[in-house]
Amino acid sequence: MTKLISTNHPLNLLNTFGISATTKLFYEFKDIQSLKEILANNIIKNEQIFILGGGSNILITKNFDGIVLKNSIEGIKIISEDRDNVSVEVGSGVNWHEFVLWSVSKNLSGIENLALIPGLVGASPMQNIGAYGVEVKDTISKVYFIDIKSRLEKNLTDKQCNFSYRNSIFKSKLKDKVIITKVIFKLSKHNLNNISYGAISSELESLKKDASCQTICEAVINIRSRKLPDPKYLGNSGSFFKNPVISTKKFEELKIKFPNIIGYQHSEKHTKIAAGWLIEKAGWKGFKEGNVGVYKKQALVLVNYGGAKGEHILKLSRKIQKSILSKFKIKILPEVNII
Ligand SMILES: Cc1cc2nc3c(=O)[nH]c(=O)nc-3n(C[C@H](O)[C@H](O)[C@H](O)COP(=O)(O)OP(=O)(O)OC[C@H]3O[C@@H](n4cnc5c(N)ncnc54)[C@H](O)[C@@H]3O)c2cc1C
Repeated sequence: MTKLISTNHPLNLLNTFGISATTKLFYEFKDIQSLKEILANNIIKNEQIFILGGGSNILITKNFDGIVLKNSIEGIKIISEDRDNVSVEVGSGVNWHEFVLWSVSKNLSGIENLALIPGLVGASPMQNIGAYGVEVKDTISKVYFIDIKSRLEKNLTDKQCNFSYRNSIFKSKLKDKVIITKVIFKLSKHNLNNISYGAISSELESLKKDASCQTICEAVINIRSRKLPDPKYLGNSGSFFKNPVISTKKFEELKIKFPNIIGYQHSEKHTKIAAGWLIEKAGWKGFKEGNVGVYKKQALVLVNYGGAKGEHILKLSRKIQKSILSKFKIKILPEVNII
């Protein structure tokens, strides 16, 4: 099996920013058994480990001096159902969008608003992916993983995952300590029709279609295709920053100075601000410096125009953070995992 570990493996096709870098060691696992075996292998005993999914939420800033374990655990299986819901077990290496398409083809509702998010199922609980008024946490019932140190299989229920906005126990306490192997989703047999985001209802209107899991999926695909750059043609990692959450008191103060500021109620006393609005207002939208820049249609997305190094993108992100702090006194933090 050690023959299957490659050395000085290129990562440029394995990250959506399209950054050229290598990893000292690389291994692709297709099932839990081979994952356990590689973790027990002496060759990697003292190596730093990085778990790679679709590489759509990472920024590689240097060659990786360790082993990248590429997840390719496949499989989608219905494991139980009742009158209203279906429980589906999904391998962590399944492509997320393929799973969304599978669910709508079976008339199962819950994740249609999350269509076209790049990456794999295993990373979806990691940052509790979300879009268009829906977060994946509302459909997850259990997450199975391997503890890297003990190599034991464990699981956590949705409550134990500590899901919050773009966060979970896997991005905090358990980061780099576990490898998610499968996720159990609870999908509804009834259309949930979450069209609270105005863009979806407008799109359905122009499509002249009533809401259903299929039409919402179609609407989201249309909206996203218009708005976001396709990493195949323009390297990016989606939203580079998280939307900052500030006190509603501070939001009201900012509103006096910036009447158009965009904020959504986050909790009783907190408001979530659209980071894209802050970045655009600070004049960064469409900014280009060398081969890195801020996407012209969406200021939250940093892009690689070709040949950029991770450190160039990191440098630009720091300049943006500094400018937002000085203009609005708000700290914006990266959503992307920097390695
Ligand atoms: C164009 C574009 C649009 C996007 N839109 C959205 C959006 O609307 N909403 C949203 O939430 N995100 C969005 N993203 C970000 C990204 O697609 C998601 O965060 C996605 O879930 C990342 O999946 P991945 O498999 O590519 O993870 P990777 O980038 O490979 O990994 C991300 C992190 O998760 C860890 N990880 C990955 N798999 C596992 C595993 N099996 N076990 C343990 N740790 C693991 C990695 O070590 C890394 O730290 C977008 C990205 C792009 C490029």
